[in-house]
Amino acid sequence: MNTKYHFQICKQALSNAIAPAVIQTISWANVFQDIGPGFLQPRFHFDGGQISAALQYIESQRELAVSAVLKHNNPLAARQAFGRLLHCRQDFYAHTNYVHLWAEQHPQLQLAKPEQLPLCHNPLQHNELITCRTNLPIFLLYRMPWIGDWLRSWYLPADEHEAINLDHPERGPLYAFAHSAAVRHTVWEWEQVCSRLRVAGEDAVQAFTGHKGVSGKLGGVWVG
Ligand SMILES: [Zn+2]
Repeated sequence: MNTKYHFQICKQALSNAIAPAVIQTISWANVFQDIGPGFLQPRFHFDGGQISAALQYIESQRELAVSAVLKHNNPLAARQAFGRLLHCRQDFYAHTNYVHLWAEQHPQLQLAKPEQLPLCHNPLQHNELITCRTNLPIFLLYRMPWIGDWLRSWYLPADEHEAINLDHPERGPLYAFAHSAAVRHTVWEWEQVCSRLRVAGEDAVQAFTGHKGVSGKLGGVWVG
């Protein structure tokens, strides 16, 4: 997904539960995956057929977030790890054909609401699932005036990023479905980390969220 939409998704999903400054930290760690050297790592973006590797990466960052709070008392590192895992989770809906497969089963798409798209918790169970293959030179050629249209007219494999991606609204009506699922899965991931921290007590949750009071709920007092 484009940087702008990763920011939007994080804000939509988390603004009821986390202080704005904390959302900024999480969001910047998220988008740094696209603007830093991680851009070239397919598993950070659910690309390149690396489904198992992407899922392992998400789990590793979740573990890192939890241990950063519980073992190292380092909420900043926890929030950055959480941002990195969210990037991968959100890109799943933009860089695989998951939304396309669901749309094929719902021909009257104009009557469907984006919230009806179920979250995908187990991509390995979907036999027909494919991820984007991103070849950087070709990726750049598609973006060139005239050359992009010419290339698209004769070279557009089904797993090419250009064929699948739902990175921004201009990609058509399916984008809203990818965006909605990314927001809901972000909330789900937030709840995962908070519930693991809660085992150690509310102080651990509050260290992560920067939220004093009833952690993760509206009406508390921002401390971070
Ligand atoms: Zn990405």
